[in-house]
Amino acid sequence: MKSEARVVVIGGGVVGASVLYHLTRAGWRDVLLIERGELTCGSTWHAAGGMHTINGDPNVAKLQQYTINLYRELERITGQSCGMHVTGGIMLAGTRERLDWLKMAKARGRYLGMELEIISVDEAAKLFPLMNKRHFVGALLDPIEGHVDPYGVTHAYAKAAQAAGGEIARHTRVLDLKPRRDGSWNVITEAGNVHAEHVVNAGGLWAREIGRMVGLELPILAMEHQYLITEDIPALKGLKEQLHCIDFEGEIYTRQERGGMLLGTYERAGVPWSAHTTPWDFAQSLLPNDLERIAPSLEVGFEHFPALGEVGIRRVVNGPFTFAPDGNPLVGPIRGLQNFWVACGVMAGFSQGGGVGLALSQWMVEGDPGADVWAMDVARYGDWATLAYTNAKVRENYSRRFRIRFPNEELPAARPLRTTPVYERLQAAHAVFGDYCGLEHPLWFAPTAQEATEAVTFHRSNAHPYVGAECVAVRDAVGLLEISNYGKFEVSGPAAEQWLSHVMANRVPAAGRIALTPMLNERGKLIGDFTMCRLDSERVFLVCTYAAEVYYRRWFERYTPPAGVTVRPCAMEYVGLSLAGPHSRTLLQSLTRSDLASAAFPFLSFRQLDVGMIPALVGRISFSGELGYEIWVTSDYQRALYDLLSSAGREQGLKLFGGRALNAMRIEKSFGTWAREYRPIYGPYEAGLGRFVDLQKGDFVGRAAALREKESGGKLRLATFSVDAADADASGDEPIWHDGEVVGWVTSGAYGHRVQRSLALGYIPAALAAAPEGFEIEILGERRKAKRESAPPFDPDGRRMRA
Ligand SMILES: Cc1cc2nc3c(=O)[nH]c(=O)nc-3n(C[C@H](O)[C@H](O)[C@H](O)COP(=O)(O)OP(=O)(O)OC[C@H]3O[C@@H](n4cnc5c(N)ncnc54)[C@H](O)[C@@H]3O)c2cc1C
Repeated sequence: MKSEARVVVIGGGVVGASVLYHLTRAGWRDVLLIERGELTCGSTWHAAGGMHTINGDPNVAKLQQYTINLYRELERITGQSCGMHVTGGIMLAGTRERLDWLKMAKARGRYLGMELEIISVDEAAKLFPLMNKRHFVGALLDPIEGHVDPYGVTHAYAKAAQAAGGEIARHTRVLDLKPRRDGSWNVITEAGNVHAEHVVNAGGLWAREIGRMVGLELPILAMEHQYLITEDIPALKGLKEQLHCIDFEGEIYTRQERGGMLLGTYERAGVPWSAHTTPWDFAQSLLPNDLERIAPSLEVGFEHFPALGEVGIRRVVNGPFTFAPDGNPLVGPIRGLQNFWVACGVMAGFSQGGGVGLALSQWMVEGDPGADVWAMDVARYGDWATLAYTNAKVRENYSRRFRIRFPNEELPAARPLRTTPVYERLQAAHAVFGDYCGLEHPLWFAPTAQEATEAVTFHRSNAHPYVGAECVAVRDAVGLLEISNYGKFEVSGPAAEQWLSHVMANRVPAAGRIALTPMLNERGKLIGDFTMCRLDSERVFLVCTYAAEVYYRRWFERYTPPAGVTVRPCAMEYVGLSLAGPHSRTLLQSLTRSDLASAAFPFLSFRQLDVGMIPALVGRISFSGELGYEIWVTSDYQRALYDLLSSAGREQGLKLFGGRALNAMRIEKSFGTWAREYRPIYGPYEAGLGRFVDLQKGDFVGRAAALREKESGGKLRLATFSVDAADADASGDEPIWHDGEVVGWVTSGAYGHRVQRSLALGYIPAALAAAPEGFEIEILGERRKAKRESAPPFDPDGRRMRA
């Protein structure tokens, strides 16, 4: 084994092998993979090898498509068979809701170029004769599902990498990792040390242990997973290979394996494996079978597919594989460590391994993953994702693998975990809470405790009228919203302005003022949107998306602040309440001696002032489009502030409102938000944020690319639509049609209660930006007429928030 390498990839499962191959393909040849046993000896070797393109996040779905299309190329380059069986796949719906969900999945697949088709039960039974039609109401057909041979795929990656100069050291365990002063690593192995510029943790079942070598506790848990293979089924004789099949109601998947069928299940009472540490003596190993545990699923399976129950079981496999709390991979560089990368938590290695390898290699070689990988970025988890939190969430996720996630559904595991001081008060006001980074935040308020639950649905829910009443109160009087769930940073020091001016696209505001700003990467794409609130010459308070805090901190490390600048995350130190509505000034003025008249405290002002006895930071800003204030206090004051505003607000008609109402109101104003309208695949001009990019202020990260985008006009345009919806609004990722063709996708949707119509935001080609007519948005499989709005539907001139 060599003693110097540009990259050491730890782990020779399907993911590590893919990373190695993709690094060589991206031009880095001096790369070494170190595997403690044989390739595939972790969770890879006993996988069922199934592959599919559908994923809840369209960007991950694209990477899955890439993975599947890669296998033929790998076979061609290496001559190593990947054992591909592209049988096509069928997903069976046993209920109307499931069929709605499949219609939604089909619609979402459209703009990704997937050729999915909804078929009837009779058509399904013709294609998949093993099913008992009685249990189903329809199906979705996907022509490019199938399965591969785990050994073949991993060795194909390995061979392709070796042919391009990559090396593989087998039977060599990495024992420890020591950082060097220059950011490189000493990789300490059983067979001597390797000095590497970069290290990739692709340790699969042992990714946590490798993380711990560098002081990292990765949110990963392995679950036991069982599948069985039946003896030969006479009914299959003479038929062409059966389709892959997912039976959602049975919570099982099945495919042909030689003359029999393979049947696996994600049982409700899933069992974690090695909850804290993974034993090193586990290699090429399986776990004892526990058919008892999956008996309920098998019973359903044999009823839904009777031929499977008529033959014996040839083999049972019980093996562990890893999950992150949301089931998506953990990929990317780690904040606080130099040149340390992860590619782990990959629960569907044969659908995702190629995409993970591609994204990570581009990230390492080019400095950018080259795709929107937010859904699998390791930075989406913060300190709150402890091992115990991960345990609860992974078990929940595993048990729900084949269950419907409704657009308005909040999952119960690991809750309540984090609460703000006003939590009990909001609870007493019948708040229905959502979970955001483990933090409880109010979604809407019910009139009574009995009504404070929301039925999950694809249609408008029981919350609809109450959310409507909240919006109307904000429009006509004043509403109070808890806003603690934002990220916050304090940037301070003599060079704070200079540093911010370099990393943000807008000019840093003057003391006492607020400015909105996009943050761009070098390619001029949106990687964040911030509110810069300037307290004084040396102090700026940044408000941003809390879920992206680690992501932002990692970016700030890339553009390390110069000496004299401190960037301090302070999300939970400052909690907040916001007032919105025409009476909000009168209400707040009654509690402070500071002059809040528009002349003294105009729109986009920011000040330290006392509200009653409470010292607060107050910004005059509004995400609802109404006159409004955001009030930030340290957490010890939040209850007092809440009580004060609540009692003083009685005269003004103060009403609590929640995140659902805010979302509807920001859409009425065509205001975007991070991870929906603002993501690293869009430029600021495409996203309608051009007015917040100051090209005159001097150089800043992404300026040259932003200038090019401005000159060319960009390829896309964020547009607002009024939708002729029935009782279901768009919620995101629905296709946008124009003149009979799919031209774009929805990023957010809601019913606009102030304008009384269904609305959606979404991206369309720039060339169509001026077309008002001819659009349709597909909601639950039905194309609904949509009118492109040339201005925000509510208060287009912004008079109300500036009043
Ligand atoms: C029963 C079962 C069925 C499955 N079915 C499917 C399916 O149908 N489709 C699908 O896509 N996925 C399936 N999977 C999941 C799939 O197996 C995983 O997604 C995949 O194997 C993850 O690969 P990996 O490379 O991340 O991890 P692993 O395969 O665990 O590889 C990690 C490697 O790192 C090595 N390593 C760890 N620590 C060190 C160290 N310190 N030094 C050197 N080497 C080290 C290990 O020896 C191991 O080889 C299934 C899993 C199971 C258990």
